[in-house]
Amino acid sequence: MKNDIRCGECRRKLAEGQYITLTIKCPRCGTMNHLKAESLPSEHRRVPRPGESDGRQSDHSLARRQAPPG
Ligand SMILES: [Zn+2]
Repeated sequence: MKNDIRCGECRRKLAEGQYITLTIKCPRCGTMNHLKAESLPSEHRRVPRPGESDGRQSDHSLARRQAPPG
């Protein structure tokens, strides 16, 4: 997954790759480009809804596991 990083002023290609934040000066027109990744795919915190339980519904299947001999 590659991204072209281009100057916002003259559209010159400055770099390519992945970044979260990047500051790069265009060698052609001298514009400082401040770039920032637009969308990170993960949300950090998910607020538990008041209707949801703590997830004690399906934890009994793991408790009965035994390793088979040899
Ligand atoms: Zn430029």
